Amino acid sequence: MEIESNFGNLVEVEMGKEIYEGILLPSPDSGTFLLKLENGYNIGFNKKEVLKIKVIKKINEKTKEFSPPFSKDKKNVAMIITGGTIAARLNPEKGGVDWLTTPSTLFRFYPELFEKVNIKKIEVPFMKASEDMDYKDWQKIAKVSSQLLNDPEIEGVVITHGTDFLHYTSSALSFFLRNLNKPVVLTYSQRSVDRGSSDANLNLVCSAFAATSDIAQVMLVGHATTNDDFCFAMPGTKVRKMHSSKRDAFKIVNSLPIAKVFPEKIEKLSEYNLRNKNKVILDSKFEEKVALVKVYPGQNPNILDYYYKEGYKGIVLELSGLGHAPTERARMGWTKKLTEVQKKGLIVCAAPQTIYGRLDPLVYSNGRELLETGIIYLEDMLAETAYVKLGWVLGHKEWSTSRDKVADKMLENFAGEINKRLVD
Ligand code: ASP
Repeated sequence: MEIESNFGNLVEVEMGKEIYEGILLPSPDSGTFLLKLENGYNIGFNKKEVLKIKVIKKINEKTKEFSPPFSKDKKNVAMIITGGTIAARLNPEKGGVDWLTTPSTLFRFYPELFEKVNIKKIEVPFMKASEDMDYKDWQKIAKVSSQLLNDPEIEGVVITHGTDFLHYTSSALSFFLRNLNKPVVLTYSQRSVDRGSSDANLNLVCSAFAATSDIAQVMLVGHATTNDDFCFAMPGTKVRKMHSSKRDAFKIVNSLPIAKVFPEKIEKLSEYNLRNKNKVILDSKFEEKVALVKVYPGQNPNILDYYYKEGYKGIVLELSGLGHAPTERARMGWTKKLTEVQKKGLIVCAAPQTIYGRLDPLVYSNGRELLETGIIYLEDMLAETAYVKLGWVLGHKEWSTSRDKVADKMLENFAGEINKRLVD
């Protein structure tokens, strides 16, 4: 078989008794070729040693023109496409995964999406991996979302996004979209759509369905288990990527799922804000000079001077256990330095390095000493959520000029980021 003309196709390669299935890829060495396996790994083959290659699926089969169907009987949702694996497929030339270029190339991979809803509006503010995003991208997504949410024809918004930093965006939208009236659903896939095991379809179908529900919250909808049966709707400020490759990569931390979402039904599991007639207010001010720092054994506290000198206004420290950093009993103590930088005006907050559970600086004398320095302990708030929230709070001049006001706002529950009901 002609190998070159089949690059990009799904093939079976026969090598003696072994048969391998994957996407045929070019290799830098012309005597060999590569096969991208289902698990994402590439293996190399010597062209001469291969007995047979059989085409299973041609990649071009799906590239016919596609226009989204429309029906008066279905509810209208809007979609914001931002990049990530869910909007990507294998580029056979490069051997890596690349973004799809237009919404219609994306939609022809997901025909099931249109069985339940009309995709009435589509916005593509940018196409990138989530690791390339920052607060300016969150602001763009929030602005487009607020416009769509205030459009009476739209029932809800689905945002497709990369997985790596998705939980930062979900936190940002939870704070930036005040007076929320309708569902804002973020979704993703861990495996691109041209892989047999892609998780994209279920996530998208469930997300579109959730966007027509009565849940007026920013939520992440994605695989609840490694099976392809249902998704969880997870609160935007209480969720975190906890696995680098599994389909149920996102876990709810210190809270409960809002609902189980199946392609055709939703089972509510906890309290949530109801759909309403509010007008959404966009409040996306953000102080860029905010940092998130993990404290580790033997770390030099002078790192705090660096942030202060660089003009940082606030830091979230990921502290150990119930909320600890090395005290003056350690070889390199943090207490004096923490007092010093906070006196100079740097805001220091603490979030749990343990991820699960709540901070309590009063249990140990070490914790009490650290509390004395002025650290704002953020209870059970996720560190990533705390970082986003601190940037948002310090972005507001009316709050940022007073340390006490900042502490009040950091401990005010704006979007479910603090769970008072958490018992253990
Ligand atoms: N690195 C990619 C991203 O976060 C991974 C993904 O999309 O899942 O955009």
